Amino acid sequence: MIDAHIHTNWLGKKADDIVRHFDSIGVEKGWLLAWEMLEGLDPGYSHLSNESVFEAARAHPDRFVPFCAVDPHRRDAKEILKKWIERGARGFGEHKARMMIDNPDAVELYDVAAEHSMPVLFHMDTPHPGARFWYNADIDGLARLLKKRPNVAFIGHGPGFWRYVSGNAEEHIQEGYPKGEVKPGGKVVELLRDHPNMYAEISANSGLNALRRDPDFGPSFIKEFSHKLLYGTDCFTREHLDFLLSLSLPDEVFEAITHENALKLMRA
Ligand SMILES: [Zn+2]
Repeated sequence: MIDAHIHTNWLGKKADDIVRHFDSIGVEKGWLLAWEMLEGLDPGYSHLSNESVFEAARAHPDRFVPFCAVDPHRRDAKEILKKWIERGARGFGEHKARMMIDNPDAVELYDVAAEHSMPVLFHMDTPHPGARFWYNADIDGLARLLKKRPNVAFIGHGPGFWRYVSGNAEEHIQEGYPKGEVKPGGKVVELLRDHPNMYAEISANSGLNALRRDPDFGPSFIKEFSHKLLYGTDCFTREHLDFLLSLSLPDEVFEAITHENALKLMRA
C-alpha cells in the first residue's frame, strides 16, 4: 500500500517511527509532504519543511516519496520550486496557502509541477472551530482552476474540500466535520465526475468523515470514483484502512485506492 499523505516531525513522529508504523500496518511507501506558509504559520506546523522531508527521504529512500511545498507568496517561488524538483521532489504539496486556489501566483507553480509530471496535493479549508484560517479558497475557485488547467493533476484534501460531498455544504460552513445524510448535488462529486484531472485523498478526519457520515453514500461514492481516490492518513492510525476493509470492497477497488491510483499519478 501507499499512504499518499504523511508528514515527518509531526505528532511527535520521526522518520524511523513512521517506517515502524508503516511496517505494522502493511504500508510500503508514503508520500512525504511538506508545508510552507510565510506568514501566520501555526507554530505546530512550522517544522514541515522541505529540508526535513528530504532528510527523511535520504534516510529511507525506498519508503518515502519526497514532495515539496513552496508558498506562492514568495517572490522567487518558481525558482525555489525548480530547485526542489532538481533535488528529486516528485509532487507539489501539501499546498496550503492563504490565497485563492486559482490565484495567478499559485497557478504558475502548478504549471511548473505539471511540466515535471508532478501532482498537486492541496489542503482546502474555511475558518471553523478547528481551523483559524482560509486556505486555498474556495470550491468555486477550484472549479475554475480545473477548467483552466486540465493538464495539472489536482488531489483534494481538507475540511473545506470534503464538506462539499454534500449538496447542503453551505448549511454546515461553520463545521469542520459535518455529520449526517449526504444530499445530492455535492460539488466535490460533480468536480470528480466532470474533470479527469480531479482526484481526492481520504486522509485525516475530513476524508474519513466524508466517507463515513452517511452509510448509503460512502460505499457508492468509493465505487464510482475508485479510479480517482487515494488512500492516505495524515496521521499515524489504521482507521482509514480499517474503514476500507470494513466495506468488503471488490479487490480491484481496494487495489486502486490503496496503491494503483497513486502509482499512476506518479508516472503520469
Ligand atoms: Zn497534512
